[in-house]
Amino acid sequence: MSLQITCPHCGTRPIEEFTYGEIPHVPETLTDLDARDVDRAFMLANPEGETTEAWFHVYGCRRWLKLKRDTKLDRIVE
Ligand SMILES: [Zn+2]
Repeated sequence: MSLQITCPHCGTRPIEEFTYGEIPHVPETLTDLDARDVDRAFMLANPEGETTEAWFHVYGCRRWLKLKRDTKLDRIVE
């Protein structure tokens, strides 16, 4: 069974209805525009353990939601 996400508007839905998304933080020390684009595209933090993520309900209400997920266990915490 795939991971389920509880949308506050639509209820519990399969993860396939959502897309992960977040505006990545680019360090202020990077001033070169090309370097900032590379950092934004490829230098993802990918933390291990509990993290707060933003997900967009593409095939539902088309709203953003935040959730806590344990990336090590691939489990939604709340
Ligand atoms: Zn929804």
